This record gives sequence, structure tokens and C-alpha cells, in this order.
Amino acid sequence: MEERFYSRLGRSLKPGVIARVVLAAFEKARRGEKLISLTGGSYDPESLPVKEVEEIIRDIPPEDWRGILQYGSNLGSGRLRAELAKFSGEVGIEANAEEIIVTTGSQQALDLISRILLDPGDLVIVGEPTYLQALASFRLYGAEIETTPIDEEGMNIDALEEKLEGLRAEGRNVKLLYTVPSYQNPTGTVMPESRRLRLLELAEEYDFIIVEDNPYGYISFEGSMPKPIKAYDKEGRAIYLSTFSKIVSPGLRIGWAIGRRGFIEKMALAKMNADICSDGLSQYVAAELLRRGMAHRLIDRIRRVYREKRDLMLESMELHFPEEAEWREPKGGLFLWVKMPTGFDADALLDDALERGVAYIPGSNFFTDPSVRNYLRLNYSYPSREEIAEGISILGELFKEALRH
Ligand SMILES: *Cc1c(COP(=O)(O)O)cnc(C)c1O
Repeated sequence: MEERFYSRLGRSLKPGVIARVVLAAFEKARRGEKLISLTGGSYDPESLPVKEVEEIIRDIPPEDWRGILQYGSNLGSGRLRAELAKFSGEVGIEANAEEIIVTTGSQQALDLISRILLDPGDLVIVGEPTYLQALASFRLYGAEIETTPIDEEGMNIDALEEKLEGLRAEGRNVKLLYTVPSYQNPTGTVMPESRRLRLLELAEEYDFIIVEDNPYGYISFEGSMPKPIKAYDKEGRAIYLSTFSKIVSPGLRIGWAIGRRGFIEKMALAKMNADICSDGLSQYVAAELLRRGMAHRLIDRIRRVYREKRDLMLESMELHFPEEAEWREPKGGLFLWVKMPTGFDADALLDDALERGVAYIPGSNFFTDPSVRNYLRLNYSYPSREEIAEGISILGELFKEALRH
């Protein structure tokens, strides 16, 4: 299609670093070479619940099939929402089925929330570095983004308060704050309880909505999930998002949002415009995975698998990475966040890494200021154990060479 036909939005859509890496992998595969991908947040291929889903689908009685194959509710299937209410209760979130909407992954929840809350020029605060795809949704609806730093314990609340005060002095009020409080993407940090409570107080004081995105909380390597902000939320300040993508299967595209009933109904109206309702078969499978206790067993299993892969990646990094590299052991989630000395250019080195058969995500992709180039994000959930060892050794060699120049 000729460029002039595209809308402003259409023109603005360009392939990012992930697309570049996928292209490189495709190119390599065509030449019969392989690429070790330490990039996205894909599920461990060996652990996908193939048997469980097969079993559920085999058992579906004809009357249930008729429901599955029909249009469903724009809030999501009643069965699944009832299971999700129970599932959320287990992590301290008191919600009934009317306060839950099923979405096509959390990504759709972010899109629907942006549609119903954000006018052009509205102010959104995010911790930096942060998840790119969330920012993309907010920006799509014309939001202005302000950032506040992420430190070792997640969003720095003192810095946030200063920021809010500064903005208020300029006559600018924040409408929405986006946070991933547990095993944040990309840094892996966890906000302690005190910060979670203080954040809720600030939301009252400065009158904004908190969007709590929690795809990783279930993947904790030491003990249970850190208690979500939503579990402390008496005033209905927080909208809670979670998803099956990191704990059960990303391909099912099952996400959910929890909020006040009126807000959830508004989201459902926006969902009518987006896709009418979520996929019937996926929702049925998700409800059964929960009802049969399979989801819980999958979570236990994947936590063990990822913990072991994390340990393997950490060991390989100790062995092969240059001593200037800095990182912290993530206590959960899917990623390792690495800091290199100033002057190191993770963006420029990606092509060399791809040439040698390894892909990673340059850290600049998580900053609103893309000139920050001395970080990188490594994923350990998707690659095999052999690939982790080999990939880290190749990267270590490359980074050492780069630092010696
Ligand atoms: C992976 C991820 C999601 C999940 O997106 P889905 O649409 O549910 O697959 C949401 N938020 C963050 C921060 C993520 O890293």
C-alpha cells in the first residue's frame, strides 16, 4: 500500500527490535543456521500444558461445545470469571465475578483501559525502565508520559512524590500510574509492602488511578507471590491485571482485569468495539485448568523450571561475562537485567551478537530516552539449558572484546 493511504497511526507503526531479531532468526534458519534467542518472554517449550489441554478438550460434552461455539458475554464466560474470582482470592484480592473481565491477554486490558480513561494530553506516570508495550497503548490514545526511577526495590516512592509535587506545582495532574510491582519487566525488582501502601496513599492524595500489571507475581522463586497492591486497596484506586501468558500458556490469550463493577462494565463496552468477546474455547480451557487444579500444578512446575534456568544463566554469567558487568539475582520472573559500564553500546553490538548466533534485547528499548545504551535484558524462560550455557558464553566473549577496544 502506498504511504499516503496510511493514517497517522498507520505511518507511525514500525518494526521494533523484536521484529528485527525475528527477521534475523528467519534469515539464519533459511541458511540452515540456528539462533539462540534470549529475547522475549516466551514460555518454556517443554513445559507447555499440551497433555492437560488435550485432556480437557477430549472431555468436552456436546452441550458445552454449543456454548463454546456461540457468541459469548463481552465480560467473559461466567464459569471462567467465577474461577478467576477464586484464584484471585488465593492471593488476597477479594473480588466477585462481576468485578472481573476476561481480556485477550493483558495487552488488551491495557488497550481497553487506555480507551476509556485517556484523552489526548492526559498525564500517565510509569517507572523507568519499563515494559514497552504498555507505553505503546497509552501513547496510542495521546497520553503524555512522565517517568519516575526504578531502583533496587522497584518504583522509588520518594522520587515519585517529588515528581507528583512538581507536576502539581505546574498545574498538571496525573490521571494514571502504571506499575509492575512484582518481578518487574525488565529489572526483576519487587516493591516492598511499605512502598505499595505508600503508593496507595499517594493515589488518594494526588487523585490518580493505579494500573497494577501482575503477570510475574506467580513466578516467585522464594515463597509465595508478594501481596498485590490491589489486595490493600480499600478505596478502589487500583485496577489489577493478570494473565495466563507467563504461567500457563501465552497462546491461549487469557488475561483478566479486576476493578469496581462500573469500571469493569465500561471496559466490557469498549471490548465490544475491539473484538465483541474473547475466544470461547480458550476461556473454557482456562476455566477447566483452574477448576481441575491443573493451573496450580503448572505454576508450581514452571516456578521450579525457571528457578533452575535462572541459576544456570547466573552461573554461566559468572563464568563468562566481563567483570565490569553488573546484575542482581532476580527472585522471580523471566528476566535478568544487566548493567554495563557507560560507553558500552548494547544496541550497536546486537548485530555482531546475531551474527554469532545469539539474540538479546538492548536496554534502550525500556527507556523513554533511547540514548541509554549500556543495559541489556536477557530471558531465561524460553532457551533450553544448552542454549543458555552456549548463548551466555558467546555473549561473554563478544562483550569482553567490545570492552577491550
Ligand atoms: C508479558 C507481559 C504481559 C502479558 O501480556 P499478554 O497480553 O497477557 O500476553 C503484560 N505485562 C507485562 C509487563 C508483560 O511483561
